[in-house]
Amino acid sequence: MLFGLPGCGKSTLAAALSKTHKLTWLCLDNDSDVLLKLPDAQLDNINFINIPDTATFPVGSQTLLQLFKNQKGAICHAHGMYNCQLCTKNKAEFSQVDFTKFGPQDICVIDTGSQLGRSILSHVTKDEAVDYKPERDDWGALRKYTEFFASQFQGFRGNLIVIFHAIEHNVMQGDKVISTKLIPDFGSKGMALTIAKNFSHVIYMEVKNKKHRAYSSSTYSNDCLTKSRTDFRIEDLETPDLSPLFPLLPQSTEQEQPQIPQVTSAPAATPAHNAVAGLSELQQRMREKGLTK
Ligand SMILES: [Zn+2]
Repeated sequence: MLFGLPGCGKSTLAAALSKTHKLTWLCLDNDSDVLLKLPDAQLDNINFINIPDTATFPVGSQTLLQLFKNQKGAICHAHGMYNCQLCTKNKAEFSQVDFTKFGPQDICVIDTGSQLGRSILSHVTKDEAVDYKPERDDWGALRKYTEFFASQFQGFRGNLIVIFHAIEHNVMQGDKVISTKLIPDFGSKGMALTIAKNFSHVIYMEVKNKKHRAYSSSTYSNDCLTKSRTDFRIEDLETPDLSPLFPLLPQSTEQEQPQIPQVTSAPAATPAHNAVAGLSELQQRMREKGLTK
């Protein structure tokens, strides 16, 4: 888990892994700016999947639900939908994802888990008016969804990074606020408080003295959650870097020799290039259809 306030460098840190790993990037936040800054050779190592999730079209939770349930599938470029019937009929473009073929050099990135949480809530209440306040039954459904994803994250059979925005959480004693903690924004407050336990590492990021800083040691701070199930201490690195972490994870030694993807200046027009290039056009089309805010 990677979490922090907006602009603290979470996506940049994850995207830098494309130097050494193959990334399957599930983008729910309608934002590919970080990836656009990468050199072509790194972009070639990213299977960029845009899932344009909005309150009125909460496709993110449905696509990820199917993808994690089946561990593989095709997601259409036009809507970010799993096995989209319309796009199948129109013979439109799809990206393939297959978690069952993941090796030590593969990493799935969910950008962001917070948008996934909002998508679940939007899906649960989608037939209601805009000013509708979730009721007891909705929270039950929300809980079922978030618990499904929590268990999927914990049991994922490869490398997984889920990026979350941070929100403030008041720690109460009676009706008095005794302290404020930063926690990952995910689903309901109850789920947000417990989601971290499904991850082996919880890394908090912030901007300090105009520099991106990251912390993983369990003893870093009382004000925010961090943990590391290995000895990995990202705060000890001169610049935050996640690549030394992955060789420390148990699965990397259990499996055969990792295949390191070659970073060469390959020609453009890979799925990631196409997806990033097509994103603004795609967003424009979605706006025209009234599917985005
Ligand atoms: Zn489609």
